[in-house]
Amino acid sequence: MFNKVLIANRGEIALRVLRACKELGIDTVAVHSTADADAMHVRLADASVCIGPPPSRDSYLNIHEILAACEITGADAIHPGYGFLSENAKFAEILEAHGITFIGPSAEHIRVMGDKIEAKNTAQRLGIPVVPGSDGEITEEAEALRVASEIGFPVIVKAAAGGGGRGMKVAKDKSDLAQAFHTARTEAGAAFGDSAVYIEKYLAKPRHIEIQVLGDGKGGGIHLGERDCSLQRRHQKVWEEAASPALTAEQRSEIGEICANAVRELGYSGAGTVEFLYENDEFYFIEMNTRLQVEHPVTEMITRIDLVNEQLRVASGNGLSVTQEEVAYTGHAIECRINAENPQTFVPSPGQITYYHPPGGLGVRVDSGVYQGYSIPPYYDSLIGKLIVHGRTRDECMMRLRRALDEFVVDGIESTLPLFRDLVVNADIKAGDYDIHWLEKYLADH
Ligand code: ADP
Repeated sequence: MFNKVLIANRGEIALRVLRACKELGIDTVAVHSTADADAMHVRLADASVCIGPPPSRDSYLNIHEILAACEITGADAIHPGYGFLSENAKFAEILEAHGITFIGPSAEHIRVMGDKIEAKNTAQRLGIPVVPGSDGEITEEAEALRVASEIGFPVIVKAAAGGGGRGMKVAKDKSDLAQAFHTARTEAGAAFGDSAVYIEKYLAKPRHIEIQVLGDGKGGGIHLGERDCSLQRRHQKVWEEAASPALTAEQRSEIGEICANAVRELGYSGAGTVEFLYENDEFYFIEMNTRLQVEHPVTEMITRIDLVNEQLRVASGNGLSVTQEEVAYTGHAIECRINAENPQTFVPSPGQITYYHPPGGLGVRVDSGVYQGYSIPPYYDSLIGKLIVHGRTRDECMMRLRRALDEFVVDGIESTLPLFRDLVVNADIKAGDYDIHWLEKYLADH
């Protein structure tokens, strides 16, 4: 196992990684920008290094400074968390060249999955069902029209280098296509420096269902079931749950086994998530994320497997602690992403938390880096914390979530807590009856 791990991240995820390291007796190094000198991950780590001014590109994305922090402190591995450098193949390569372990998959796997066209081709080759669409990049309007007519409207034009829900345009019919195609190309070029786009069938009422996988890097791999992340705003997940209210145990093990097989065949190392849209009992691959996900705790709650512990084990050459046969699911878990935002307009609300009282009790977990008196800086994402609740059944989980949301107090700034208090008593949500468009419609009507 490692002696010292540097955590190249901030906020709740830096704390999450730190906790797994502490349990294994691994020393931790926090890095931080000048805006984060008071952050909890800095306070709890064994050592900390300031790596630059507030803007991410000068600090949390500054590979040179992070490497220097590694050398100064003698860290032998880096955990990238999510976001920032977690899916940067060049970063993984540079670490390897410096003899520092990147806690994540190989640079090659990050690169393949980072290009959505290549990822889709790879998925198809590995027997994973994909959304019908173009074979690869589309460069001409005429070709776009031919492909779209073949697969049938509506279609969605997507950026090969896309991420964070950006660079996607829907064309309802023929008359929309030219504009969708050109706008998507221009936006992709501006946002990602790569204007390559491809076309997919636009699914009308799918759920977003993703499979958690773990690979040992030596041809072994398992899946830990699914998460349902259909409740989204602007293609960003808001509420996630496991198990999905829509799947049967047979469907779970069938799609899970397909993904675990792919992981074994790839020789994939560490944690990953295979994302699907799910409609009329069919799964359609959209992308694979080669990192720990924000919503990983719901999987941990129902499997009782510590995903960061498994990442650390695999990266240090110790293999996975569980076999597929040993994975057992118990009960139901829901995560709410509580943001420092106005609950109606979603305008960010950074500033000082004057009073803070997180909920507790049986089955309640709060992953957060904030504390009373802490000021949420305006430079980064607006996550206050994640409330994760577990119950023996979905109904018990919902009842517990309702009372946990009632207990949760965050004063001094605005938060999205009121939105979740409304959602938890909503009839559709209680029935598990929602798709990826449900929340946008709900917000438009309320
Ligand atoms: P990103 O990497 O930007 O998050 P994804 O490919 O993962 O992009 O898609 C994000 C979300 O966009 C999905 O969860 C879904 O809501 C919507 N989406 C993507 N592809 C399609 C499609 N073919 N049909 C309908 N919705 C889609």
